[in-house]
Amino acid sequence: MEIRINSYIPTTNVEGVGTRFAIWVQGCPIRCNGCANSRMWDFNGGTSYKVEDFIRIIKSYADKIEGITWLGGEPLAQIKPVTEISKAAQELGLSVIVFTGYDYSDLKDSSDFKELVKYTDILIDGRYEQDKTDYSRAWVGSSNQNYYFLTDRYNKSVIYENKNKIEVRISPDNEVILTGMGDFKEIVNAIGK
Ligand code: SF4
Repeated sequence: MEIRINSYIPTTNVEGVGTRFAIWVQGCPIRCNGCANSRMWDFNGGTSYKVEDFIRIIKSYADKIEGITWLGGEPLAQIKPVTEISKAAQELGLSVIVFTGYDYSDLKDSSDFKELVKYTDILIDGRYEQDKTDYSRAWVGSSNQNYYFLTDRYNKSVIYENKNKIEVRISPDNEVILTGMGDFKEIVNAIGK
C-alpha cells in the first residue's frame, strides 16, 4: 500500500499537543474557499511512499515526539494508508491527531472511518469556512470546526492549555515556510516590511 504526501515535518510544536511529527497528505476533494493549502488539492502531486517505509521514518523520530498529526490535503481521502500508519504510530506509544474537512456526523457510519477512529486520539472536523474565521481556539481556523476526544489520552483541557502558534522555517532554497495556525497574512506582511 502507498500513501501520497505533500510534505512532512518530523518535529514541530504547532500542530497539536506537544512535539509532533506532522504530515500533510496530498489531494483534497473538498476545496474550501480561502484554503491556505490549495497546492495540496491535486491528487497527482506530492510524493508517493510505501506505507512501511513511511512508518520507518516516523519510527526513527519516535523518541523525540509525543505523536503524529495528519493534515492536508484531506487525510480521509487516503483513509486506508492513514489508518495503517496511525495504528503503527499508536503501537509505538505515540498519539494520533487527525484533521478532516468532513463532518464527523457524515463519517460516523462508515466502516473505514470506524477503523481509523480505533487509532485516533483526537479528531478535528469541519471544512475551513472563510466567513467563520476564528483563530482563538487551538489549531483551528474557523468557528465551525469541532474537537472529538476519542480515547482517554487527552481531554478538552488541551484546547485551553494550547494557544495557536506559527512556526517559520527557511528551506534550503530560501523559501519561507509557515506552519501552524493564525493570521498568516499578518506574518507575511511583517516579513515583507
Ligand atoms: S479541507 Fe482543508 S485542505 Fe481541503 S480545501 Fe478545505 S482547508 Fe483546504
